[in-house]
Amino acid sequence: MPVTPASTPVSTSTTLQLDHVTMQFPTGTVALADVSMTIAAGEFVSVVGPSGCGKSTLLRLASGLEAATGGTVAVTAAATSYVFQDATLLEWRSAARNVELVGELRGVPREQRRARAQEVLDLVGLTGFEKQHPRQLSGGMRMRVSLARALVADPELALFDEPFGALDEITRLQMQTELQRLFRSSGFAGLFITHSVSEAVYLSTRVLVMSGRPGRIVADLPVPWDYPRPPELRHTGEFAALTGRVSAALGEHLAGERA
Ligand code: ADP
Repeated sequence: MPVTPASTPVSTSTTLQLDHVTMQFPTGTVALADVSMTIAAGEFVSVVGPSGCGKSTLLRLASGLEAATGGTVAVTAAATSYVFQDATLLEWRSAARNVELVGELRGVPREQRRARAQEVLDLVGLTGFEKQHPRQLSGGMRMRVSLARALVADPELALFDEPFGALDEITRLQMQTELQRLFRSSGFAGLFITHSVSEAVYLSTRVLVMSGRPGRIVADLPVPWDYPRPPELRHTGEFAALTGRVSAALGEHLAGERA
């Protein structure tokens, strides 16, 4: 199976920059310590790390939901969207009207927001399901609505907090293929939190490994393959070698902390 190295040059325009960021909660918990990272346009960066190491905190800082207690967070993306593990849909609204909500809140005229909602629902493979309500949709389809809602405002930066963590394995693999297609066609930069090393490597242009709390970035590993990445990439020796390096970076740190 051919595995092509990345041929698309990565743009150097930054969408997100964290400089020496520290986050200490009022309870005294230090969630992040001296975290510096940059995400440029064209990049899809995953963060893996043990539970409680500050991954969600990192994402909340990037989204502006929370302010860092030290260092600086600079978001230069014109629009940012957030995808949660739960699809967080309004049960009483159809798929289309869930997606339209973003435009409604921004005062986009009805016809325009309907047309845009249809465009992104088509993009995520939900043509024909526009009128269904969330309870009539499978877990994978609900996540597709959630992705459509994130894409509707044409984000330059998309933040993902373990969006596929609650899906069954087969749906999860399908959604990974789907997301890398959307990444290439929609042009957003991505920051993706996951517990799955294989998911991180399959999706990303770069994988950041975090230590246990307080979270620090202990490895920054580029992923060399161009998109679209065939699902069979996961069965190659090269893929296993890279997931092995990520796991080793994770393991080394955990072992160091236990010592
Ligand atoms: P992860 O996403 O890697 O599992 P989190 O970012 O959710 O980790 O949490 C990192 C640490 O910060 C945890 O110990 C968590 O209990 C703590 N924490 C998260 N949010 C708060 C908060 N609002 N107040 C106090 N402690 C918090």
